[in-house]
Amino acid sequence: MKELGGLANLRSSTVSDRYIFANDEGRFFAGQHDLLSRIDSNELSDREFAFLQERFFLKNSQLEKHASLFARARRKTGVEGMEYLILVPTLRCNLACSYCQVSRANENAEGYDWDAATLEHVTDLIRQFSARSLKIEFQGGEPTLRPDLIRAILDAGSHIPDMTAVICTNLQRLDEEILGIFNKENVQISTSLDGSLATHQSQRTKDMGLTSEFEKNLNLLLDRYGSEKISALPTVDPTNLPVAEELIEAFVARGFRSIYLRPINFQGFARKQHPDSVDHTEAWRAYYEKFIYHLIERNWANQSEVVEETYFSQILSRIFRPGQDRHVDLRNPNPIGVDYVVVDFDGKVYPTDEARMLTRSGIIDLSIGDIETGWDTPERQTLHDVSTNEHDPVCQKCVYQPYCGRDIVDDISRYGRIDVPRDETYFCQRHLAIFDLAFSLIYSKDESVQYSLRHWLGLSGAEITLGETL
Ligand code: SF4
Repeated sequence: MKELGGLANLRSSTVSDRYIFANDEGRFFAGQHDLLSRIDSNELSDREFAFLQERFFLKNSQLEKHASLFARARRKTGVEGMEYLILVPTLRCNLACSYCQVSRANENAEGYDWDAATLEHVTDLIRQFSARSLKIEFQGGEPTLRPDLIRAILDAGSHIPDMTAVICTNLQRLDEEILGIFNKENVQISTSLDGSLATHQSQRTKDMGLTSEFEKNLNLLLDRYGSEKISALPTVDPTNLPVAEELIEAFVARGFRSIYLRPINFQGFARKQHPDSVDHTEAWRAYYEKFIYHLIERNWANQSEVVEETYFSQILSRIFRPGQDRHVDLRNPNPIGVDYVVVDFDGKVYPTDEARMLTRSGIIDLSIGDIETGWDTPERQTLHDVSTNEHDPVCQKCVYQPYCGRDIVDDISRYGRIDVPRDETYFCQRHLAIFDLAFSLIYSKDESVQYSLRHWLGLSGAEITLGETL
């Protein structure tokens, strides 16, 4: 009788007409539907046994067991110190988008900017920062309403060898002072572009003059810096889905090659103004799948300009590249207040921007501390301890657990609790659908599909088989 050590954690799932098997190291293959029961009764053929052994599914020696522990550890998020700060120097904004997620304040309102003490605490934090790299994202409100505060932060971090800053702006206003900040080599610009200008206007600016101003400013920046320095993100209304081709062309025409397709966020003001956004799982799944297939077709027909959907590429990285745990939307465990925090306009600290929105909407206070006294608090610890899919009974049986993540803020936002059976949650249903799509593409025999997958994984020149079959 052959020893089948280490196979206990093999799980399977049906994807299209295939059975996908994976262990908790994230190694996977496609196989026969009865494989698990034949493993249980020790009925594997020599060929099957050799396949599993050659691909390290069997752990009989000490070395194989240690290697397995190492492989599992690489799948876990390993962060120690601060890497990413989201700063909100002002809550004021010069637009009022219907799905504004942060309960923004009017441009002329008072009391919605960092005061002198808060600025001092934030700059102190950055001055004392001793690691090599830090990413700072300026959010709002509209952060360019306070270029002086942005400059103060950039100056405070000038000793950090690898400091990058992203300024998230609606691009309604550009002047020499703001351009002076954008000119800095380590500054990136992030804006919103909801597809065609007509869609952008109906969802955001509501005004032809403001739309023209946005377009003029975006074009000016693209001419000046090129698309490398600028990213644009669409927010998509699942109850009024844009034509996928139009959305893609609006980005490609401006030189963008990455589109991060996001449905309207359920938190914040969006919750009140778009109640339909609570339950759009199926419509969104169908749209997302169609969007990915459009990209595949387009990439095959226009091989000089390969376009990706950012989150789908992240999903592929999670499957094929253990250790890809810097994307805070999808990692496991998902540490709270360790490598990443948000400092709001009033100095309160939140674990994520979504937590800030939820708090500002008056639904639940998810602040974990403040910039003056810190965030090593019981609140942070409580959230941190449960921010994992490790012990979830549904996830433990799921073939996608090694690649998946946990978002407790999303659960709290939708259900007011975090113990809803996992497979009933929006997070789970959305990710099951994306992983199913990813695996059906991985096993597709269509060369156009494989072409896009290889490019999205950064393996454009390689002749490789992404998914093996037993
Ligand atoms: S959340 Fe859903 S998709 Fe993710 S591991 Fe758990 S059961 Fe699987």
